[in-house]
Amino acid sequence: MHDRGEREVRLTRRSVVVRGIVQGVGFRPFVHRLATGLALGGFIRNRTGSVQIEVEGPGSILDDFMSRLVAQAPAHASIQGIEAVDGPPVGGGGFRIEPSVDPSGPEAVQLSPDLATCDDCLAELFDPANRRHGYPFISCTQCGPRLTVITAVPYDRERTTWAAFPMCALCRADYDDAGGRRYHAQGNACAACGPRVSLRGVACEDPIHKAASELRGGRIVAVKGLGGYHLAVDATREHAVGELRRRKHRDEKPFAILASADRVAKLCHVSPGEWGLLQGPQRPIVLLRRRSDAGVAEAVAPGSPRLGVMLPHAPLHHLLIRAMGDAPLVMTSGNRSDEPIAFEDADAVERLSGIADHFLVHDRPIHLRCDDSIAQATENGVQVTRRSRGFAPATLPLPTNCRRPVLALGGHLKSTVAFGMGRRALLTHHLGDLHDHRAYRAFADSISHYENLFAIVPAALAHDLHPDYASSVYARERSLRDGLPCVGVQHHHAHMASCMVENGLNEPVIGVTFDGSGYGPDGAIWGGEFLVGDLRSFRRAAHLRYVPLPGGERAIREPWRMALSHLIDAGESTSLIDVRKRPAEVRIVRSLIEKRLCAPPTSSVGRLFDAVGSLAGLRDRASFEGQAAMELQWAAERAEADGAYPFDSSPDGVIDTRPIIAGVAADTRRGAPVPDIARRFHSALVKIIETVCARIRNTTGHRKVVLSGGVFQNGLLSGETTSRLAARGFEVYTHRLVPPNDGGLALGQLAIAAKRDGDES
Ligand code: ZN
Ligand code: ZN
Ligand code: FE
Repeated sequence: MHDRGEREVRLTRRSVVVRGIVQGVGFRPFVHRLATGLALGGFIRNRTGSVQIEVEGPGSILDDFMSRLVAQAPAHASIQGIEAVDGPPVGGGGFRIEPSVDPSGPEAVQLSPDLATCDDCLAELFDPANRRHGYPFISCTQCGPRLTVITAVPYDRERTTWAAFPMCALCRADYDDAGGRRYHAQGNACAACGPRVSLRGVACEDPIHKAASELRGGRIVAVKGLGGYHLAVDATREHAVGELRRRKHRDEKPFAILASADRVAKLCHVSPGEWGLLQGPQRPIVLLRRRSDAGVAEAVAPGSPRLGVMLPHAPLHHLLIRAMGDAPLVMTSGNRSDEPIAFEDADAVERLSGIADHFLVHDRPIHLRCDDSIAQATENGVQVTRRSRGFAPATLPLPTNCRRPVLALGGHLKSTVAFGMGRRALLTHHLGDLHDHRAYRAFADSISHYENLFAIVPAALAHDLHPDYASSVYARERSLRDGLPCVGVQHHHAHMASCMVENGLNEPVIGVTFDGSGYGPDGAIWGGEFLVGDLRSFRRAAHLRYVPLPGGERAIREPWRMALSHLIDAGESTSLIDVRKRPAEVRIVRSLIEKRLCAPPTSSVGRLFDAVGSLAGLRDRASFEGQAAMELQWAAERAEADGAYPFDSSPDGVIDTRPIIAGVAADTRRGAPVPDIARRFHSALVKIIETVCARIRNTTGHRKVVLSGGVFQNGLLSGETTSRLAARGFEVYTHRLVPPNDGGLALGQLAIAAKRDGDES
């Protein structure tokens, strides 16, 4: 028998610091429930980049608390580190949530991304008996906007755009109810106290139903969402979608669609992996294979076998789709052609009034502009091609240490920037293409916002070697202004490093980087590169043969120019092009090529896709970069023939593309089906990669291959390359959550700068 009196219960007070995504995900309420359930005393509070917990009770129960803290953490929390120190008890009753400590100290702040409406809130939204029935801003600790509404850290209501909406008594009670889903939910609100929706300039009972009936009548409605305005139109109405294209000055680039899950299943073929992406809390636009009887207007995605589709991510979108009687909506970013998406009300009205017939708005400000994310499921798994709403600002682990804070400025198109602190990297949301001054200002503003929000003071900068990229200009100006050291990083080395970071590699690898263009140190435009190196340095082991890029940027919009360039390079007859273009036009471009005027040499695989697409007769003009490459991929997927065009690769590392061009030209002349040409071209690229990687392995012994660059968004190419290389004993690494295109550059630049910075110390 035990003598209970001897078993004195010794109390301990344990101080715990938890780092990771622990703010804005219901972490404090969770800890409160856990501690209270175990009858522990103490408190929890948010600090700048972590939460601080003190718990007091018997040692064995504290251990139980610690293991449940990790095992039962809220779904959207991501615990990246826990430190615990035991001390003497101080007493003082139950467990409390204490006010946040003011931001101070150098800790890396981590914030939750915006989260799609959760199932519990959704059930309430459509429950007529619930007091938040039909309320378009319903949310809880597990869902709702975060990054787009926060104005400063720590994440508390007074530092968000919810601050202007004092809670009513009922909401206050929910907020204070330790057992409920809205305990300390910063975005807690209801129809009585929270933001309201209206149809601008139209007095009506139910603005969402009114907007839906206007949409069903073929009108264009600007809809204020989480991260900015969308332009919406009924996706089944050909005329209305065409009108949106005309007013938005957008030729052929596909529009995304918003639809219910039921409707998506009717529109597209959806694999289990694709359902996972569609229904994830990030709710990206997912590229799906459309059904032949999809029933959306042809103008939504002209000529495309794919549709970009997203499920509703906010209550307003759920209500709008329901009010549409489940008809799908085109939901495209609220801007004219390539400007930044509008997110401030006055600016949106000014910029979009020539496009939208109506504005479905609300009175809660959006603090940060954030576009929709885009993703696809490939043979290699999930691939995010635009990492934005729902993904940013989740941080990524770095395989190298950032000794001091580094800001990496990325590229010029599909811009993102990255901040490095210690072993973590923060890759921002999509900041857009930087070709006009409005975009540049938005870029600079976003950098300031992140620096303020996350209390980061960069001590070094990293940028692309291209002197004319707006991001390089920013780096030069910032470096002068703040006296910061600058690290210039070669474009394809950054691509390679980006894929290494994502896969936790910090060792020598073979980097296959295929893209449209990147500045080469030799003055050429690189884009078909086999690099060998690590995070510190690289050498160029092989590349595609140089051909002139006639007219620089214009060659991207006019793929026939690259076709002509490759034909001349291969010593082939140019008759295939001559018969399609006006003689004067051909003469001018031919003389650019022959005299090497405005025709820098390029090894770009992206431009080789353009040339082959044009030769095969797919298109001579592109309305966006990569259009010809996408169409070649789709064509290859329909092919019945097999085989591959020949190529030569000399031991000096130059891969001769002339036999490929000769093969394409011969097939085209004899009238071979486009899908067969596309198929043989893809197979040639896979063989090139296989052959060159094998040769590099023979001389270096390296077996790890990373695939990066925008060309690897081509799921057919990346899938087949991966399986061929794996069959030959290579370890192949690809992108998943970091875009393979220039949206991932900043992350690679960051790792390289950190590595080099570390060397100097
Ligand atoms: Zn919720
Ligand atoms: Zn309320
Ligand atoms: Fe690139």
